[in-house]
Amino acid sequence: MAQEHKISLSDLFSQVHSDEQGLSTTEAKSRIQQFGVNELRVQKKTSELEKFLRQFENFFAILLIIGGALALLAERLDPNQGNLYIAYALFAVVFLNAIFTYLQERQSEKILESFNKMLPVMVSVVRDGKEQRIDAKTVVPGDVMILYEGDRISADGRLLEHNRLKIDLSSLTGESEPELRHLECTHDNILESRNMVFSGTLVQSGHGKVMVYATGMETQIGNIVRLTKETETIDTPIRRELKHFIKIISTIAIILGILFFLISIAVGKGTLGSLIFAIGIIVANVPEGLLPTVTLALTMASKRMAKKNALIKNLESVETLGSTTVICTDKTGTLTQNRISVNTIIINQHEYAAWDRESLHEKGLQRAWQIMVLCNNAYITQTGFSGDPTEGALLVYVQRFSSVNDYIKGTRVQEHPFDSATKRMITTHEFAEHGLLFAALKGAPEIVLSRCDRMQLEDNIVPLDAGLREQTLRLYQRLARRGERVLALAYREIEKADFNEEHFIFVGLVGMLDPARPEVPEAIVKCRKAGIRVMMITGDYGLTAEAIGNQIGLATGKCTIIRGDELETMSDPGLVKALQAPEIIFARTSPIQKLRIVKTLQSMNEVVTVTGDGVNDAPALKNADMGVAMGLMGTEVAKEASNMILMDDNFATIVDAIEEGRTIFENIKKFIAYILTSNIPEILPFIAYVVLDIPLPLTVVLILAIDLGTDILPALGLGAEKPETDVMKQLPRSRKERLLSRNLLTMSYGIVGMIQAAAGFFTYFMILFHGGWQWGERLLPADPLYQTAITGFFASIIICQIADVIICRTRRESIFKVGIFSNHLILIGIATELMLLGMISYIPQLNIFFGTAPLEAWHFLLSIP
Ligand code: ADP
Ligand code: MG
Repeated sequence: MAQEHKISLSDLFSQVHSDEQGLSTTEAKSRIQQFGVNELRVQKKTSELEKFLRQFENFFAILLIIGGALALLAERLDPNQGNLYIAYALFAVVFLNAIFTYLQERQSEKILESFNKMLPVMVSVVRDGKEQRIDAKTVVPGDVMILYEGDRISADGRLLEHNRLKIDLSSLTGESEPELRHLECTHDNILESRNMVFSGTLVQSGHGKVMVYATGMETQIGNIVRLTKETETIDTPIRRELKHFIKIISTIAIILGILFFLISIAVGKGTLGSLIFAIGIIVANVPEGLLPTVTLALTMASKRMAKKNALIKNLESVETLGSTTVICTDKTGTLTQNRISVNTIIINQHEYAAWDRESLHEKGLQRAWQIMVLCNNAYITQTGFSGDPTEGALLVYVQRFSSVNDYIKGTRVQEHPFDSATKRMITTHEFAEHGLLFAALKGAPEIVLSRCDRMQLEDNIVPLDAGLREQTLRLYQRLARRGERVLALAYREIEKADFNEEHFIFVGLVGMLDPARPEVPEAIVKCRKAGIRVMMITGDYGLTAEAIGNQIGLATGKCTIIRGDELETMSDPGLVKALQAPEIIFARTSPIQKLRIVKTLQSMNEVVTVTGDGVNDAPALKNADMGVAMGLMGTEVAKEASNMILMDDNFATIVDAIEEGRTIFENIKKFIAYILTSNIPEILPFIAYVVLDIPLPLTVVLILAIDLGTDILPALGLGAEKPETDVMKQLPRSRKERLLSRNLLTMSYGIVGMIQAAAGFFTYFMILFHGGWQWGERLLPADPLYQTAITGFFASIIICQIADVIICRTRRESIFKVGIFSNHLILIGIATELMLLGMISYIPQLNIFFGTAPLEAWHFLLSIP
């Protein structure tokens, strides 16, 4: 029974051979050898075999197996007519296809895994007496781990010190309400005792320091559960589309197969002939290469996106991103650079540029600096600062004129941390000289003002009357209009026992600038052209947000600004109406409201992409169609809840990724158009065989040679087609636009397919007539004339498909604009296509195998017209 919560700290220290100072790096390294890497080895849920077998579940595989079974039946009815061979061929196709798709999926899994590796879970520990951020996998027992808001705790530990640390234990105990921690043991059961933290749980708020005593599989979560990470199999749009597509094509295949089997019986072809016929129809209809091609196209797209700093967590979300209609974005860090610097200071109601030495004469400036330094969790380092950029900026500013350390005295008693819901931070400090506590407050000006009833002016403390409030507000707005992020500063002295958040003394305002990212305006123009609305959802003040919005072209004048408190009182229909405005900025918004905005947008049929970084953003990220977390500033929790991670936190990257997503949908559509086209010249010969009673113009084996041989590489090439220059000038794809649209079917089956069939029949009959064949005459499969004729039909399909792949490359633009030679994969595809044709036609062994014969030059020309 675990006792780590009950024993004394010194006993715990000797148990783990460590103390408050933590370990040295060398010691930690050798402990990894001893205790192992800190990870949970979750048993693989689906075995590789199962994954492989799953490839046979799809409709296409089933159809082909049925086809094979029918061929076996035909063999029984009339042995040695080559039907056994067709059966084997079909089974082999199913098998090979399964292997190929399986390998393809495995490769994409590997890629996604490698993405995951690029995103190690980071934790802070004390090593060599210094705080360091390290990969959670390298934490060992004896480490002193420092916990911050939004951290995923990665080992079991006992608290050494903490500040309002609240832990969400739900993943371990199912308890959904985050609990405040204590330093003492509070319960017999270690899981209930408040002086402990456990691997797999997360820091909801506050911070703390713990002694790690168990890692990896030795942790509570390792012992009890095997951390069942649910692999959600929600249907992404593209998966739904493919299912729909497969259903339709399969239905067509089955209906045609049965229908023509019956017709064939009716016209007296006999069961056997009719069976072969049904098999042919089915085989011709199934686009065998589709599934692996789709996976391959998605894999390539995700690789391309990774190069642009966007890591996706599952393949299909690439395409979801492409159908985005609204982006809800953060301001700080995403639209701006998060390189905050103090620009303005307002003291005694006078405004100064931050670097203006005149301000140094203002009485009360020292007080403002004191508050800035005390009510602050960042710290100055050699290269600048470490911690929250807003707080770091304050320190850097103070440091410019004075020394930050001069303002740190006494001990900090309490901290009420900043969070985006309360928008303020308070710390209390004990100064040795007098018995009272000093409370420092900084935060959003309207919040701070509401906590103050007095104001420091020069040496006097005066009541903060309506006039002064009014004046302060005007000063505040002036800064905000310039796009400055404004903080107000206040303080008071209090009795130790009596803390309330009132009666503070207002000191002044600080205005900070955070320059917009230079690439953002262009990205926003792109979105606008692409019919994607961009909404800013920020915790910042409305005027500041609007000023930034103006700078980056997000707010062009008629922008609607909705404040958090307005949103609070807004009814759902009211919000729906407000959300129809072309330009909206949500200011002073809380994370819960963010979730509400996302949900409302979704109820309006929008596809919503949302960015976020904090713990509180997790619900909105999870609920959005596409959650995007920040790789640099984001908390572990936000990263976990999202589908994509921006390694550079940059808004423009989202827009690039959307372009990639749109291209994927288009490209899949392109290769479907291409693959489907050859179905017509594959099906019609069988129909002609029955209806016109002519020798079968194309055999099942040759159909397979097309569907699985010659068609595959060019189709893959289409999957790799670059975006057409206008993909970002189209409106977002409507939710109703199917992969398999009527337009596409008309084009593939109705027009191009028919032309190809015409070319095939023309070539076929020309060769036959030229060889002296007469209508109604029967031909044996071994007859050289017949073999030449079917080879001719086969060749004409290939020649037409070469033309078709060029047609399919573009949906809207001229091929000459895109460049005939711009896609190498397609050129390679065409070359292999011709090579295969040559081999099937001219290599004697293959002639025997496929039942083909060498063609003469003029045979090829027949299909050119
Ligand atoms: P956003 O990230 O959308 O810009 P935040 O929620 O981070 O918004 O900040 C909202 C407001 O809270 C800011 O405008 C500022 O006034 C205040 N604020 C930001 N950071 C701090 C902090 N560390 N301490 C106190 N107040 C802060
Ligand atoms: Mg923020």
